[in-house]
Amino acid sequence: MTTIFAKIIRGEIPANIVYQDDLVTAFRDINPGAPTHILIVPNKVIPTANDLTEADEAVAGRMMRVAAILAEREGIAASGYRLIINCNKHGGQEVYHLHMHLVGGRPLGPMLNRAA
Ligand code: 5GP
Repeated sequence: MTTIFAKIIRGEIPANIVYQDDLVTAFRDINPGAPTHILIVPNKVIPTANDLTEADEAVAGRMMRVAAILAEREGIAASGYRLIINCNKHGGQEVYHLHMHLVGGRPLGPMLNRAA
């Protein structure tokens, strides 16, 4: 299986990659919603959060750890940020390759529109 993110990870299409290791790759979102908007993506294709298995615990943990490292690098660790994983239709997932959004650099407001 391949995805647009898998092509970025393999260097087949361009992206602003800010971090890469044996388990995850992070690059800037093409359509940022805040001054910092980075996607942290497993190097292997895991379609959604529903598809995480026990064998993926290391990669899931790495995603969290890399988010904290990048938040520090971006200078938003102290001011704060949001980590988001969208899952399937109601979650608003557009790309079916698991990814964590690291968003910050401005006040982000409430997490959900509770009237929706
Ligand atoms: P989702 O809605 O699936 O959680 O988020 C997908 C994100 O991927 C969106 O924020 C979108 O802007 C970003 N995105 C989609 N295609 C590309 C691409 O080709 N390059 C980059 N850097 N980001 C992308």
